[in-house]
Amino acid sequence: MDFSLSDEERAIRDTARQFIAREVMPLEQEVLRRERANQPSLAPDELAELRGKARKFGFWGLGTPAEYGGMDLPAVLQSLLWTEVGRTYVPFTFGGEADNILYHANEDQKREFLLPTIEGERISCFAITEPGAGSDAANIKLSARRDGDDWVLNGEKTFITNGNEADFCIVVAVTDREKGVRGGGTTAFLVDRSMGWRSEPIETMGPARPASLVFDDVRVPARNILGEIGQGFELGMKWIGRGRFLIPSAAVGAAERALQMAIDYANTRETFGRKIGDNQAIQWMIADSEVELEAARWLILRAAWTVDQDADARHASSMAKLYGAGMVNRVMDRVLQIHGGMGYTRELPIERWYRAVRLIRIYEGTDEMQRLIISRDLLRGYTKIGGHLS
Ligand SMILES: Cc1cc2nc3c(=O)[nH]c(=O)nc-3n(C[C@H](O)[C@H](O)[C@H](O)COP(=O)(O)OP(=O)(O)OC[C@H]3O[C@@H](n4cnc5c(N)ncnc54)[C@H](O)[C@@H]3O)c2cc1C
Repeated sequence: MDFSLSDEERAIRDTARQFIAREVMPLEQEVLRRERANQPSLAPDELAELRGKARKFGFWGLGTPAEYGGMDLPAVLQSLLWTEVGRTYVPFTFGGEADNILYHANEDQKREFLLPTIEGERISCFAITEPGAGSDAANIKLSARRDGDDWVLNGEKTFITNGNEADFCIVVAVTDREKGVRGGGTTAFLVDRSMGWRSEPIETMGPARPASLVFDDVRVPARNILGEIGQGFELGMKWIGRGRFLIPSAAVGAAERALQMAIDYANTRETFGRKIGDNQAIQWMIADSEVELEAARWLILRAAWTVDQDADARHASSMAKLYGAGMVNRVMDRVLQIHGGMGYTRELPIERWYRAVRLIRIYEGTDEMQRLIISRDLLRGYTKIGGHLS
C-alpha cells in the first residue's frame, strides 16, 4: 500500500497552490468588502480573467476530455486540485469545464451547448429540485407534454445554482407519468433562457445565491432533448454523483487553511499570562480537527481512486461527502471558538466560512440521504463492511 503522491501529482498540486496564492488570494479582502456591501463578490469578467490566467498556467478543464481541450485528469488529481481551490474563499474555480452530462449531447447540441460552456461563453445550470421534491427527487412534477415537434414545459424548479446567471438550463421533467420517475418517465431538456423560463434569486445565509425557475408553457423543440427520452432521472443522478467527492475535496482545503489560522492564533493570543495554545482545552480542539481532517482526506481520496478504477464509487463517495461535510463544519466551529470574540466578527473571514460550509451538509444530497445510501447498501448486501479490502 502506498499513500504517497507521485512526483507528477505533487508538481501539479504545487503549481496550483502557487497560482491560488499569487493570483486569487490577493482578491480576498476585496471579496469580503463587496459581500459586506451586498455586491457581487466577483464580476463575470474578473472571473474570466482569472480563468484565462490559470489557462496560461496549464489549468483548464480539469476533468474535460483532451479532445475538448481539457486536462482529462484522473479523479485523484482533480480532488487534490479542488482542495487547493478550496483554500481561498474567493468564489473561483478553474475554467474549461462543463456539466458531465452534457457529454451525452448529440453533435449539434455539443456545438450549441457543450463547447460554449467549456469555453466560458455560455453559462449552464442544472435543475432537478422542486419546491415539493428535494431529497425525494423521484417525486418531481414539472411536466413536459409533447405537442407536434415540440415539448411544452410547465412547473417550477428551486434552489438552482447559477439559475440567475444561466443562459440555458438542463431541466429534468416528467414526460410519462404512467412509467413513473424511476421507470423511465423523465427526460432531460436543454432549455435556452430565450425560450421563456424566468428566474428569481433566493437569498441564503451564505454566499450562495441560487434561483427558483418558473416554466410557464415553455416550448422546447424535440431536438433539445438531452440523451434519450426516459433517461432524465438517470442523467440527474449522474450529474449529482460527480460532486460527491469534489465538494468535500474543496472542504478539506478550507478546513486546512482555517485550522492553520487557529494554530497561529493559539500561538500568539495570550490570556492569564500565557498563550491560549498552552491550554489543553485549545490543544484538544486542534488535535480533533487534525484527526478529522486526515480521516476526511483519505475517505475522499479513496472515493476518487475508486472513480479512477472505473468501479462503482457511489458508496465511497457518499461516505466522503457525509464525513467531509461534517468535518468542515466541526473544524470551522472550533476555529471560530479558538478565535473567541474576534472569530465572531466580520474583521476575519471565519464567520463567512462558518456560514458558507453549512450548505455542504445540505446540497447535492443531505447528510441524511448519504446515511440512507450507505446503510441501504449494507442492509441489502450491495457492499461489504470494509469495502474493497474485505
Ligand atoms: C444553495 C443551494 C444550491 C443548490 N443547487 C442545486 C442545483 O443546482 N440544482 C438542483 O437541482 N438542486 C440544487 N439544490 C437543492 C438541494 O439539492 C436540496 O435542497 C437538497 O437535496 C435537500 O432537499 P430539500 O431542500 O427539499 O429538503 P427535504 O428533502 O425537504 O429534506 C428536509 C430534511 O429532511 C431530511 N429528510 C428527507 N427525507 C428523509 C428521509 N427519508 N430520512 C431521513 N431524513 C430525511 C433531509 O435530510 C433534510 O434534513 C441546492 C440547494 C441549495 C440550498
